[in-house]
Amino acid sequence: MEPRGRKQFYDPYVWTIVMAGGLVLVDAVRLLCVQQVGAPFWLLLLATVLIASHITVKFFRFDSHISISDIFIFLALLLLGREAAVVIGAAESLYSSVRITKKPLTMAFNAAAMACSTFITASISTALFGPLTQLAGDEYSARLIAATCVMGTVQYFVNSLLVATAASFWTDKPVLATWRKHYVWASITYLAGASAAAITFKLIGMIGFYAFIAMMPIVAIIYFTYLTYVKNIQASTAQAESEKRFHQAFDQAPIGMALVSPDGRWLQVNHSLCTLIGYTERELLQKNYRAITLPEDLPKMTATISEVARTQTAISQVEVRYLHKLGHQVCALIGISPLVGPDEEAAPQLIFQIQDITDRKRAEAQLIHDAYHDALTGLPNRSWFIEQLGQALGAARNNPQAGFAVLFLDLDRFKIINDSMGHLFGDQLLINTAERLQASVRPGDKIARLGGDEFTVLMSGLTERAEVIRNVERIQQEVSQPFVLNGFETFTTASIGIALSELGYDKPEELLRDADTAMYQAKSLGKAQHVIFDKRMHLRALNLLQLESDLRRAIDRGEFRVQYQPIISLKSGTLSGFEALVRWHHPERGMISPDEFISVAEETGIIVPLGKWVLAESCAQLREWEARFDADLPLLMSVNLSSKQFMDASLLEQILQIVTETRIDPRKLKLEITESVVMENIEVASQMLNQLRDIGVGLSIDDFGTGYSSLSYLHRLPINTLKIDRSFVSRMNEQNENYEIVRTIVLLAQNLGLGIIAEGVETIEQVARLAELKCDHGQGFFFSKPVDADEATLLVEKMTRAEPINIEVDELIGGHLDVALVNTYPM
Ligand code: C2E
Ligand code: CA
Ligand code: CA
Repeated sequence: MEPRGRKQFYDPYVWTIVMAGGLVLVDAVRLLCVQQVGAPFWLLLLATVLIASHITVKFFRFDSHISISDIFIFLALLLLGREAAVVIGAAESLYSSVRITKKPLTMAFNAAAMACSTFITASISTALFGPLTQLAGDEYSARLIAATCVMGTVQYFVNSLLVATAASFWTDKPVLATWRKHYVWASITYLAGASAAAITFKLIGMIGFYAFIAMMPIVAIIYFTYLTYVKNIQASTAQAESEKRFHQAFDQAPIGMALVSPDGRWLQVNHSLCTLIGYTERELLQKNYRAITLPEDLPKMTATISEVARTQTAISQVEVRYLHKLGHQVCALIGISPLVGPDEEAAPQLIFQIQDITDRKRAEAQLIHDAYHDALTGLPNRSWFIEQLGQALGAARNNPQAGFAVLFLDLDRFKIINDSMGHLFGDQLLINTAERLQASVRPGDKIARLGGDEFTVLMSGLTERAEVIRNVERIQQEVSQPFVLNGFETFTTASIGIALSELGYDKPEELLRDADTAMYQAKSLGKAQHVIFDKRMHLRALNLLQLESDLRRAIDRGEFRVQYQPIISLKSGTLSGFEALVRWHHPERGMISPDEFISVAEETGIIVPLGKWVLAESCAQLREWEARFDADLPLLMSVNLSSKQFMDASLLEQILQIVTETRIDPRKLKLEITESVVMENIEVASQMLNQLRDIGVGLSIDDFGTGYSSLSYLHRLPINTLKIDRSFVSRMNEQNENYEIVRTIVLLAQNLGLGIIAEGVETIEQVARLAELKCDHGQGFFFSKPVDADEATLLVEKMTRAEPINIEVDELIGGHLDVALVNTYPM
């Protein structure tokens, strides 16, 4: 048989006992009816069930107790005989079971076990000592004592074994082990119960049953006195225990703990506290908490202590700094609670719980510092500055005198210096700038670095514009001093935008935004400028925003056109080519000049698709003329290229694609880029220029003379033409400075073997001078304004018929007009 353990015996066993108990009980009841029980039986039954089974007497040492009801069952046995004892025992057991279990079977079992054990106890005792009810009369009570022992012992063994067996079946453990574990000590309670019953029995024998009943109130008083006594003993033991535990916890606590007198003396301190502040226990006990608290933190501490004393409740936490014996500071988090003594009126002693939070504080401080500072220069950062601005705005709102200025400062040429001299140099320059800024502002002004080469300054208490300007100029002067690092001397200037609080701001971000806008304005004026923001600038900024969103749609809507401006040979007076110039026909605003939208297109990146479109459009136009007039038409098409396009890795691919699609000779395409585009990123630029040259495309440096004029680089770059900026050409008079510049550029170009085009030619005098200087080509309103494709087609047609573009030029140059249309436009 598969061993299912002993659990399978549980049910049969329990049922057997229940049945046996049932039989014994039924028989006992039958006999009692026959005997006709009297009042003592009912009294005893009631007392047992209702009173005795609720009352227990505890033995402290053994964690065991006698139920008074056991005494009553033995008493019933002695007074009234077996049947009464069986019935009372079963009733009591059933009643007690109801209070501890909900299972009817368990209740029945408990009652039955009690009935059985009482029956067996009574039977054995009677067999040994005769009818027990007669034992009261014995003179020496020896038989009673023996009977008592037998009664207690038998009842104990039988009852505990019956119950232990059931338990052992249920838990599947050996009976003996179960019995030993739970019931050994119970023997005392049975013997004691039996003895108590015997004494009571003897007493009743002497004074009579009813006299005994009359004594019960006295017994009750004694019992309750006893209960109180037990409670007190328990309470005092518990208090002693808890005090012991408290002292242990106090001494061994990992945090500092101290008992402090109402006037602040240390009464008791633990080891952790001594370690925390470096004093020995003896040294500390001679001190006062004030002696080790940092003076600045004393008021806070004193206030907290009086608060605790007043409210008599624990204050959760107060942070103070202690002075360690070695002199350094220790940040402590202190919890203070009152220790109310027996005299509740007196000021309470205090318990300090002291945690060392020095490391945490340090980490917090570091975090706060990092969150508000820039790691490179050590200056505060944007978040911090915005906070300061917020405070300044709040102050200005309440007090018109608290006006202030915000400077937005951006270094000119920083990118070039950073790229050409290396990032370490760039970093040094930024650190140096931060130092100079600090040295040049007024005390109390606040400086921050927003990132990159952008710095901000908050100047408070400034209302006079002149005063603001004076301060700004001092800063600009200081920043532009030469800066030497590793033997290199360089210098940079700063463009500064200024926003004044007087315009009435709500948010710090708005101030920064406007100072930034003003800074851009300053940049557009050239280097080292400053501009104060005004409302018009704001409108302009709004316009710009509108322009930007219009621009994004303009390509798809076909709002762009290309115009062509002729480039004329000053040797022959003939047409050499065109410069393609984009035009925007805005649906509401009409024609918008490139000067207005090209920069926006560049900033937003729209220039890349736009530039590609212009390239494709102008190449297609050239192809159309070739198809219409002559496949070998000696005409070049110049197209402007923005820096964004130039830095776009796909530029080469785009050009190849356009050239292939339009089937023009790449040598007839010329790209115009400004000097600064090349110089700002010389490495990438020369690589791109070489690749463009390799596919045959010509290259012009546009607006020559206005940029860096880095002549040393010029001859190393694969360029074909210089275009002299129109500012020099238009203001060129006999022997003046501009004339000299033009002359020098022409000479330079000749020396480098480059072609040269003068832009912005407006008068016949300018043509004459340029021809005199042997400048190859001219472009300007004098010859023609930029014209649309149809008009340009007429010009090409004229050229093919060898008609002069301009009679005056023709006369000026004289006789050259019949020169064949050779490719005089330099490649
Ligand atoms: P830019 O490349 O220097 O173009 C020459 C500018 O000078 C043109 O202005 C032209 O109309 C103007 N101009 C020509 N002759 C004279 C003259 O005799 N007197 C005066 N005062 N001006 C003259 P525009 O068309 O307004 O273009 C301005 C700038 O916009 C161009 O300067 C160029 O940098 C840019 N741009 C124009 N079209 C494009 C384009 O398709 N792509 C790119 N990236 N930039 C373009
Ligand atoms: Ca140009
Ligand atoms: Ca130009």
